[in-house]
Amino acid sequence: MGSVQIVTTILAAAITAVAVWLAVRAVLKMVAVIRLGQPAPERFTDKVARARTMLVETAGHTRMLKWGVVGAAHWFVMVGFVVLSLLVLEAYFEVVTTDGGLPIIGHWTIFGLVTEIIGVLGLVGILVLMAIRLRNRPTRPGGRSRFTGSTMWQGYFVEWIVLLVLIFGFVIRGFKVATDHFEFPFWATPVSHAVGAVLPDWADGVSVAAVIKIVISMTWLIVISLNVTMGVAWHRFLAFPNIFFKREPTKPAGSGLGALRPMTSQGKPLDFEEADPEKDQFGVAHVEQFSWKGLLDFSTCTECGRCQSQCPAWNTGKPLSPKLLILSLRDHAYAKAPYLLAGGGKDLTGEEKATQAQLAHLDVLALAEADKPLIGTAEEGGVIDPDVLWSCTTCGACVEQCPVDIEHVDHIVDMRRYQVLIESSFPSEAGVMLRNLENKGNPWGAPQNTREDWTKGLDFEVPRVGEVDDFEYLFWVGCAGAFEDRAKKTTRAVATLLNEAGVKFAILGEGETCSGDPARRIGNEFVFQMLAQQNVETLNEAFEGRDKAKRKIVATCPHCFNTLGNEYGQLGGEFEVVHHTQLLAHLVATGKLTPVQPVDGGVTYHDPCYLGRHNRVFAAPREVLGDAIAGDLTEMPRNSERSFCCGAGGARMWMEEKIGKRINVDRVEEAMATGAKTVAVGCPFCSTMLSDGVNGKGAGEQVEVIDVASVLLRSVKPEQPQGGKETAPIGG
Ligand code: SF4
Ligand code: SF4
Repeated sequence: MGSVQIVTTILAAAITAVAVWLAVRAVLKMVAVIRLGQPAPERFTDKVARARTMLVETAGHTRMLKWGVVGAAHWFVMVGFVVLSLLVLEAYFEVVTTDGGLPIIGHWTIFGLVTEIIGVLGLVGILVLMAIRLRNRPTRPGGRSRFTGSTMWQGYFVEWIVLLVLIFGFVIRGFKVATDHFEFPFWATPVSHAVGAVLPDWADGVSVAAVIKIVISMTWLIVISLNVTMGVAWHRFLAFPNIFFKREPTKPAGSGLGALRPMTSQGKPLDFEEADPEKDQFGVAHVEQFSWKGLLDFSTCTECGRCQSQCPAWNTGKPLSPKLLILSLRDHAYAKAPYLLAGGGKDLTGEEKATQAQLAHLDVLALAEADKPLIGTAEEGGVIDPDVLWSCTTCGACVEQCPVDIEHVDHIVDMRRYQVLIESSFPSEAGVMLRNLENKGNPWGAPQNTREDWTKGLDFEVPRVGEVDDFEYLFWVGCAGAFEDRAKKTTRAVATLLNEAGVKFAILGEGETCSGDPARRIGNEFVFQMLAQQNVETLNEAFEGRDKAKRKIVATCPHCFNTLGNEYGQLGGEFEVVHHTQLLAHLVATGKLTPVQPVDGGVTYHDPCYLGRHNRVFAAPREVLGDAIAGDLTEMPRNSERSFCCGAGGARMWMEEKIGKRINVDRVEEAMATGAKTVAVGCPFCSTMLSDGVNGKGAGEQVEVIDVASVLLRSVKPEQPQGGKETAPIGG
């Protein structure tokens, strides 16, 4: 060992010792913070499925590859990180001796070849990612960026480290070539040979380049260890457990979509017949009341901003960005952690749990952070502004896009639950809707005895459950379908088509009440459970004696479809629920319905969030339209998984939209830009929002918003009176 090697070896050992010590300390700190969260025992089920999904999503980059170029570039960088870690390990042999290398595999030509290829592709990948980050930098002239609000220096730092480590990998090999210590042939390592051709024959070059590579790598480890909230770096490790512990591991995409998590206290679902707000946690009032998986979510965020780029609230100038919300919760959790770890925290009656002695030596910043209300305005020092919390439509675009499976909607609703149930703090205009749900069983407050009014004037009898037993489908009409003028036309169209196709169906009539979706999404779990339990009882009675496969329900409202199909199971109601577009597509495909006159003028289709993203029903409505219209469907730029919300979900239908541009107007502009004369929808709320948007643009005479079922009816029964355009004002 020469004098240069003595110096490089000491330097490598010293910086590695410091980095490893800091890294161990950082990991212990993160684990301690994540463990502050509430239990989530359901995250430990299905371990095989979880492991499989984790491997598919990470090795296959299934989420990332939805964004083609950036996904591919990130894949090469990820593989480069894993495989080229071996080359960092090899550098420890090279600082000791100039012809050092990894034992055994380090001498295989295949090792030389694979690392060469991955090194080159990793270099290309990181240069592409750097170019994308620069092109989308928040400070660029014009336009909003998905990186707005991200900690940019951290992204640049990580990318430069990766670039330099890759470059120094080739420099080390180049010095080996130049000094004739390289054992791999030219055909397997052409780039290394090319680099060697321009480097001098310097005997100590290998060790010096190797120590520089180690110093760069360990600098990275030291910096991230001193910044435990640096998700852009830590996600390399945290993405694996975060995906492993996702809510529903068998779901191919968007595990945090569809059903909401039940309200839990100490990891157990709450039953309101026994729940006590002095003993049980009602929603989330403090950051430590999220589950440990919530705290893991916050720690894992890479700040990539994909969620932000798709969010309807953010894109229309509201203060909500799902990314910034997660980052605020993360920063608050880590800043408050010293207080919590010292024994601090409030019990459910609001009393401090720690003694004065426990808090005596705490940093004042941690104490100040602990005093911040989780929900509060800037003047109140709140972590999350109420306008942020209430801007969410629960559309799920953020969850759909997140490459590390963060479950934003669950976290937002958990915070809403506390605000509504304990603080009674929510947009006042939604109070009318909640009162109507409690007193009348529907959000409009319409009399229950008018639920069947939509059947009047039909030229066939609509059977009721109880009057007939041999129905195949229970037709769940929904409150909009029963009381709202436009939606009533959809209800009549569906009933007419089912009757035409000879489907045996029956309605509950006055036995039906609101599914509870708006109550649950606004955070009023109490009203949701009250309505849902009543409906589950009614439905169980209607289907008495039938097994699940024969407990079939067809619903026209995607919110009812989602709640009945995905959430009633949490309360003992197991049903086979289909959306009307799925049933109609089946009836057309099997020849029970025959479109005879194509609807012309151009048609575009708006995917409702709770049908599409939340339940993956993208094809059926398009199949129905494909059979019923002249020519091809004209897609909007944002369609299917990336569809843009109408603005009504998450109980936003019953709140005023006071900030920024109206979401429905944004969507209508996109629909009208296609030139289509018909905007087809599959949801009564989308119908209302888009109709209002079209009318607001003064285009009510040129563009019609209409349900897919009504388009089909026009094609199947062109002689049927259609009752005018569906852009009539809301009726009671
Ligand atoms: S659910 Fe939709 S509105 Fe809410 S934060 Fe996510 S993208 Fe934004
Ligand atoms: S998409 Fe996921 S990882 Fe990316 S910024 Fe949003 S929450 Fe963070």
